[in-house]
Amino acid sequence: MTKKTLYTDALSHPIFEYISNASADLALETYVIGGFVRDYFLKRNNQQDIDIVAVGSGIELAQAVAKLLPNKPKVQVFKTYGTAMLRYKDVEVEFVGARKESYNENSRNPVVEDGTLEDDQNRRDFTINALALSLNKADFGNLLDPFNGLKDLEAKIIRTPLSPELTYSDDPLRMMRAIRFATQLNFTIEKKSFEAIAKNAERLDIITRERIVEELNKIMSSPVPSVGFILLHKAQLLNRFLPELTNLEGVEDVEGQKHKDNFYHTLEVLDNISKNTENLWLRWAALLHDIGKAPTKKFHKTLGWTFHGHEYVGSKMVYKLFKRLKMPMNEKMKFVQKMVLLSSRPIVLATEVTDSAVRRLVFDAGDDIESLMTLCEADITTKNPLKFRKYHQNFELVRQKIKEVEERDHVRNFQPPISGELIMETFNLKPCREIGVLKEAIKEAILEGEIANDYQEAYDFMLKKGEKLGMKVIGN
Ligand code: ATP
Repeated sequence: MTKKTLYTDALSHPIFEYISNASADLALETYVIGGFVRDYFLKRNNQQDIDIVAVGSGIELAQAVAKLLPNKPKVQVFKTYGTAMLRYKDVEVEFVGARKESYNENSRNPVVEDGTLEDDQNRRDFTINALALSLNKADFGNLLDPFNGLKDLEAKIIRTPLSPELTYSDDPLRMMRAIRFATQLNFTIEKKSFEAIAKNAERLDIITRERIVEELNKIMSSPVPSVGFILLHKAQLLNRFLPELTNLEGVEDVEGQKHKDNFYHTLEVLDNISKNTENLWLRWAALLHDIGKAPTKKFHKTLGWTFHGHEYVGSKMVYKLFKRLKMPMNEKMKFVQKMVLLSSRPIVLATEVTDSAVRRLVFDAGDDIESLMTLCEADITTKNPLKFRKYHQNFELVRQKIKEVEERDHVRNFQPPISGELIMETFNLKPCREIGVLKEAIKEAILEGEIANDYQEAYDFMLKKGEKLGMKVIGN
């Protein structure tokens, strides 16, 4: 008889011994299952979430473990799901009783009954997520791998334990999960599995927007996000929740003049920016920076293809898109809108860098100027190496100019040195439209470089301009 390999090193965290002891006391069979085991074999540093399955009551086991633990943590019980959760040191442990599931047509929430470990492994989404390690005294660390998940991990394949048809149709969120894992781990989805996803694409409509976005954000946060977007597109899933993006696909040719395929261009921009930032919202800005191009596209006899105002239209579309997908309607959304709105500004500058244009850009972008430059650099997708180098050099110049202007003029987040109150006091005015006009004129004069960003110069300018507008200084 060959000796079994026991993966006790995977279970070196002290929590496992407590769980093992508590389940021995209750005479339960207990296993650690899912992402923790998968990530151990992948040597991924992602071992803070631990899923425990007990053949019996997961809730009772959690309570027994909490009693043994030195810090006596609180057990959070989710009665409706039959699960319980506790925290110990750096880990979050979720307990569930082994279960058997059956689904109906209109919901991804199954009817659940008690089951064996095998039943529980059958209900898992992928073979690589069905791996379990025993926490039982008799064979602590023994691997239970009924679907050859370990082999699939080595071959980098996403495969379902049961028939793919049934797996995806039962719970269509798994389609998003398959593509998310393929993107995060750089795995291939087994052919018949991918076909089943494409076939069940319409079923995605029973999944809430929040769950879709949760998976989408994990795709967006992966090293090469385009992998996921191309799979989503091929499976006809992407158009179900991001039609603004798929509308960018295609190249039109009129009288021999073509524009680029803005869908694939966008994906390149997204991959480019992902090499330079982990900021999820800047990645979203890259994904959405050209969405205004589909509704604004026109062919012009002399100018060729134009997308006039696409940045403005795009930034308005960001609002609707975030709202529809139930994404945060807060400063994150505003940041994405701002990036989309300003996305062409540094490009214009790259051809002619004047001080006043740089000041205006720094004023409008404020603290997001660095993010904006990162976005514009990612937007360079030309395949011509000469142009590629030239465009990057141009942006280098813009960056340098920004630095110079900032050091000299301090216009980032700048508040004009003259307040509305001072204008009212000086000219003995009640609140009125003219005050705004004068304030705006002072701001413009500073941004244009007519006067310095300095109190005295601005004050003198105010007196002169005020007089021209027919205002009278008190005492004069
Ligand atoms: P990550 O931590 O990267 O999100 P994970 O696999 O741990 O990965 P969870 O969502 O925490 O993801 O799920 C834990 C385990 O539960 C999975 O490994 C899988 O076995 C199972 N699981 C999760 N969602 C589903 C689902 N929709 N269908 C079937 N099994 C699922």
